[in-house]
Amino acid sequence: MILRLFAATSSQGKLRDFRTAADAHNIAIEPLPGLHSIAAPDETGTTFEDNARLKAVYYSHFAPGELVMADDSGLEVDALDGAPGVRSARYAADAGLVDSPDAPIDNTDIWNNMLLLQRLANTPEDQRSARYRCVLAAARDGEVVKTAEGTVEGTIMQAPRGTGGFGYDPLFYLPELDSTMAEISLETKLTLSHRGRALEGLLQQIGE
Ligand code: IMP
Repeated sequence: MILRLFAATSSQGKLRDFRTAADAHNIAIEPLPGLHSIAAPDETGTTFEDNARLKAVYYSHFAPGELVMADDSGLEVDALDGAPGVRSARYAADAGLVDSPDAPIDNTDIWNNMLLLQRLANTPEDQRSARYRCVLAAARDGEVVKTAEGTVEGTIMQAPRGTGGFGYDPLFYLPELDSTMAEISLETKLTLSHRGRALEGLLQQIGE
């Protein structure tokens, strides 16, 4: 029997990652129905796990009896004491760098990458270590059922490279592949990414 898991994310990038990984298991990942009309909860947690849990619990109330999965993820840069961390999506916005209201496209990723480069401008090559971290939580009817975490280690480039992926991927360098996360295929990314690893852990627990 195929198990159904609703994902509480409107990010097409994340949804694509989740679905590609779940294909290998007998688990179907579908977007949570009506997600676009549900007000997002405040991500008040100070850790990825806090935020993943609070989102999974919150969204599970909108699909009674179903397993609902939520994630929280981001980039931790050692030279910046772990920033942007749980503020990864809003890193530049927190510093006041936002699109004008009439901007034709969303440039959030570009602002975030520019700010990261600026904050690391005086950080030498051998001190630019970083990791992506992802925590996934699955909840049913307001109770967390499972959680899983995944990380991937890398370094932050001096300039972006590659056109794939999303977010900080053009700056996230994987030494063992001599590529940025934006230069590898989606399949390769999933085998080694924080999200792929967290999802593997969660799917294994759920499938047991
Ligand atoms: P979240 O949506 O609160 O989990 O925020 C995640 C943010 O962290 C994204 O908006 C990106 O800026 C960054 N991030 C997380 N995972 C990735 C990834 O796989 N590639 C690039 N950026 C990521």
